[in-house]
Order: sequence, then C-alpha cells, then structure tokens
Amino acid sequence: MEQRIDQPGQYSNFQPVFDLELCDGCGECAVQCTFNEIRIEPRGDRKIPVANRQACGACHRCEVMCPRRAIYIEEKPLALRKHAVWKAADLKRVHYQSSSGAVNLTGFGSDKDLPTYWDNLVFNACQVTNPSIDPQREPMETVTYLGRKALSRQEAIKSGSNGSLIKLKLPVVFAPMSYGSISLNLQKAIARTAVEKGLIWYSGEGGLHEDLYPFAGHAVLQVASGRFGVNPSYLKVARAYQIKIGQGAKPGIGGHLPGEKVLSGISQTRMIPEGSDAISPAPQHDIYSIEDLRLLIYAIKEASGYKPVCVKIAAVNNSAAIASGIVRAGADMVYIDGFRGGSGATPSIVRDNVGIPAELALAAVDQRLREEGIRNQASIIIAGGFRNSADVMKAIALGADAVAIGSTVLVTCGCHGCQRCHSGKCPWGITTNDPEISKRLDEDWAFERLSNLIDGWSHEMKEIMGLNGIYDIGSFRGNRLILRGVGLSEKELDILGIKHAGE
Ligand code: SF4
Ligand code: SF4
Repeated sequence: MEQRIDQPGQYSNFQPVFDLELCDGCGECAVQCTFNEIRIEPRGDRKIPVANRQACGACHRCEVMCPRRAIYIEEKPLALRKHAVWKAADLKRVHYQSSSGAVNLTGFGSDKDLPTYWDNLVFNACQVTNPSIDPQREPMETVTYLGRKALSRQEAIKSGSNGSLIKLKLPVVFAPMSYGSISLNLQKAIARTAVEKGLIWYSGEGGLHEDLYPFAGHAVLQVASGRFGVNPSYLKVARAYQIKIGQGAKPGIGGHLPGEKVLSGISQTRMIPEGSDAISPAPQHDIYSIEDLRLLIYAIKEASGYKPVCVKIAAVNNSAAIASGIVRAGADMVYIDGFRGGSGATPSIVRDNVGIPAELALAAVDQRLREEGIRNQASIIIAGGFRNSADVMKAIALGADAVAIGSTVLVTCGCHGCQRCHSGKCPWGITTNDPEISKRLDEDWAFERLSNLIDGWSHEMKEIMGLNGIYDIGSFRGNRLILRGVGLSEKELDILGIKHAGE
C-alpha cells in the first residue's frame, strides 16, 4: 500500500531551523539531506530553505555542511502529550505499524533507558602509601596478546600455541561491521587504522572485498550462518576467524541485507546474485550442540592452517555456561556482545527487549572460566556500547582481554546517532553503499580520525593505569579491586564481583 502523508504519525520529532539572516540560499542543505526534509523555495528576490517537517532524524548533516552556519536542529517541543505509560515512541510505533504492517527496523544501538553499569563503576586511585605513576615520564605497557595461552614453556612448545597469539598494541579491536552494512570506504579506513596502530579488525559477515586482502593479516574474518564470501582463499588469508552465533543487537535472530542494497561489489564479495536479498539464518544450520560447534572450529582450523578461532555470542543469561562450552570446544577467543551493541538493521522490538548488559555477562564469564581453571585457554573480547576509554578500562578490570568498538567508529566518522542505518541513505556515507552517498565518507579523513581516536584513548588508558599505580595492562586485567560500585544493589555488586564505594 502506498504511504500517505496524511496518516497519523507521519511527522518527525526533530526539525531543522534556519537563520535567514545568515542564509544566502545556496541550497547545500537540501542537497545534503538524503531524506528530503529540506526544500528550497523562492521568497521575493531570494531563495530560502524550508523544512518539510516530516523526515528529520537529527543526523545533523545539513547543520555541519552549511557554509554559513545558518542551521541548527531542534527537538520539537512537546510534540506529543506526556503520558506515564504511552511514551512518544510507543505511539509512533503503533502509528507506523498500522500504516505499514511492517516490522519496525532500526539501526545504531539501543536508546532504551536500561542501566549502563559503566556509569555506576568508579576507579580507585593511589594516595600517599601507594604512589601513582606518571605516564608522561614512565614507560607504560599496553601490549595485549589474544588467544589460547599455554601455562608453561613446555606446554607452549608442545601445542605450538605461542606462534598463534595475536599481538595488540592496545586492548581495543574494531567490531564486526560487514561490507554492505557499512560502506567500503569506511571498512578500508578501519582496516588501515588496525594495521597502522597494531590492532585487529573484524570483517563481519559480508566476506572480504578484493581491496581489503592487503589488510587481511590484521583481520578476523567471519564465518556466519549465511557463509557469505567464505571460500578457500578467504579461509587462508586472515589473522584469525570468527564463528558468529549471536549479536547483541539481535540475539536469536538472523540478518537481512535487502536486495536493493546488494550492488555489484557486495554481490561479488558475498558471492550472491546482484539484487537478491542476503538472508542470514537465525541459527548456524550445522550447529545444534557444543560438539557441532567443535566440528566447525576444527574445520576452520584445518582449512586455515591452525589460525586462532573466535566464537561470538550475544550476552544472555547463561553466557557463562555457554562460554565454558565454547572454550572446551577449542575456541581461542570468546566474543561477547552486550545488548547495547549496534546494528545496521534490526527490529527495534528485539534490540530493546532481548539480551543482557555486557558488564554482567563479562563478569560472569570471566568468573566462571577462572573457577573452572580454563581462563588461560581463551581470551575474552567484550562489545556492546563502549563509548570512551574509561568504559574500556572498566571492562579490562572486570576481566576482558580486549574491547571491541563499533558504534564509536561510526561516531568518529561523523555519525550523530539518527538510527536510520537500515535505510541505505546514511547522510554521512557511513552505513550506505549508494554510489553517490557513500562518496561522502572520505577514506583518508576517516583513517585520520580513527587514528586520532586510538591515540587519544591510548593516552587516557595509560593515565588510568598510572593513577592506579599500574604500569602493565596485564596487572590491570581482571583486577576488580580497582573498581567500586556506586548506587548498585548487593546482587548487582555480587554478579560484578566488586565492592561498593566506601568499602
Ligand atoms: S546550506 Fe545554509 S546557507 Fe545554504 S541554503 Fe541551507 S541554510 Fe542557507
Ligand atoms: S551511521 Fe548514519 S544512518 Fe546510522 S545512525 Fe549514524 S548518521 Fe544515522
């Protein structure tokens, strides 16, 4: 059914506001808006921009690109009457679904007001008797190794595991975001940054574009339920491989890249016909048990020449038991994606109501693997809404070996969180492969910004280590005494394995 503009709910919560004293009517804002929110109209002897008041999602592209700084974005005041139960988003969901009959898709991470435990955790700091370390003057070690670690030299020689450890200069990795869900320009910028900064990047399930083969030595390539792009050379070139079981933004469901987004490069890379929907089934159809998972882990190891294998799961209630099984099945890394993780496209009803916070899953998994005496057999990589270097360091103190960042990468490259990644019209050229719009993201510019972000976080992470009197990230990892909780219940503190502030 054709969408009518006179349907209830056909309006936006935001609008561009124009300062007509500054505006010279150049029309750039209308060009930049990929959602047709702005039109240019004659007014007397000049042209002026006019908001259509229907499609603004607060992407801020027009505001940033206006050469005369003549625009700001405002949230429409009291767009809907306040109601204790029926929030604006609830009303809009019903309006939208009753006009379309569709599942409400969304992108980016969840904006639901569920707890972000990082905000309730604080670091301790050295005072008087335990001197802090000045990272400007003292050498600080942030090098981290990912993979199965032998407990003795003899064991390492016997298993050959030392050679397969992945060296990171900083315990930060780039989260899986497939070519298709993000633009090729962005994926190249991510890969270049990983190589430049001594990190790794995860490919997501979109295969490996031919331009990215030179960066495969720092890549963890994904084998997901759709098996997109998986071929013999794909299984040889990477630094490591990742089996995707679940994703934090959509635990328990598969993925869907609409046919209109499967353009020629994506079709070749994913090895599917151009214009056909890329459907990833919810489960891996050959995995129904830990034994099945073990078969796939070792099949990939055999095919790849015994590269490390990572298994990615969404954070759920029984993550600790699942992680134990994953490690015992032979995985070298367990990747846990919390419920604030981003997505190129997911049903909002799933994103906002399924899964658990990364913090709780991480603490539970680290604790369980330690109790079972198998913590050395696999690294833990945690993802799902990491916003700054303090979040990262809190995760390291809770037991993570490394933290994966995805949404932060998008924000670094201009994203303002408008949550329309699924539309294929990302105004910043980030989550689109439209030939024209994707040109907006300059690869070199994105590379520079990502490199700056990593440099800035590296300085801050060293400061946090130093103020705790720790010069080696290895002594920070799993050191929960560094953390204290503020405003958390006994149960939450118990699961996190930390004390309350003041104790
Ligand atoms: S981009 Fe700025 S100066 Fe140009 S028409 Fe829009 S508001 Fe006016
Ligand atoms: S990536 Fe683009 S579409 Fe997605 S939230 Fe950011 S600005 Fe919006």
